[in-house]
Amino acid sequence: MDFACPKCKGKIILDGNTKKCYNGHSYDRAKAGYYNLLLGVGGGTHGDNAEMVEARRTFLSRGHYEPLADRLSELVASLTPKNGCVLDAGCGEGYYTDKIERALKERSSVSNVLAFDISRDAVKNAVKRNRNISYAVATAYDMPLSDSSVDVVFNAFSPLAIDEVRRVLRTGGSFVMVYPGREHLFGLKSVIYKTPYKNEPQDTSLSGFNLVSHDILSYEIKLCTKEDIHSLFMMTPYAYRTSRDDRERVLSLSEVSTEVEFVIDVYEKI
Ligand SMILES: [Zn+2]
Repeated sequence: MDFACPKCKGKIILDGNTKKCYNGHSYDRAKAGYYNLLLGVGGGTHGDNAEMVEARRTFLSRGHYEPLADRLSELVASLTPKNGCVLDAGCGEGYYTDKIERALKERSSVSNVLAFDISRDAVKNAVKRNRNISYAVATAYDMPLSDSSVDVVFNAFSPLAIDEVRRVLRTGGSFVMVYPGREHLFGLKSVIYKTPYKNEPQDTSLSGFNLVSHDILSYEIKLCTKEDIHSLFMMTPYAYRTSRDDRERVLSLSEVSTEVEFVIDVYEKI
């Protein structure tokens, strides 16, 4: 299994460093090691910019989200059949994708891991992390995949295009979705805002899917360096919604403790 042609959704084959479909559409491999399967001009300049990608890379490298990554990689590996295909839809800089691929390898199940993100800066970083994964710059709203071609779709903190997830998943396939829970980063929000709000719970019903499990993983993290605080702040939506004064106050702190809470939902495509 590989990516399909983003134009016609036909099978693409590799011809040297070019991917081609039978209708003659072709896509060159970028030097960095991924394919740009985003149609239209300015491909890959959307989504997270280099600064946000770097903030996330720095923060994740400290291991603060490792318990989540361990849980997710085990979960995805357990849901993937032998010779199965896993798609990370919105992989960012590939932190979870990498852990998933390693967990699959540990189970010695020969699997195929595909991942894409709309941000070229994110994908460039992801490629460096793990070369056993096929990476593309693409959009979740028009995935470069043929119908019913994937066994497991994984989505962590990324915009969700559920119609496309349903289209590319085979019947009986699994959809794993991770998003912030009610208490997520409440400690950080309390430092930023006078009246911090908790996240609203999401409706878990998805048309065309059965909810198989709904789990919550929560723990406390302690950020003890300005760089860590800055990185976490920059990878949240608050970075762009906070006034300059409030932003400076947060970035002047030398220590922040905060809850992290993740909701992990698993669905089966009916
Ligand atoms: Zn084509």
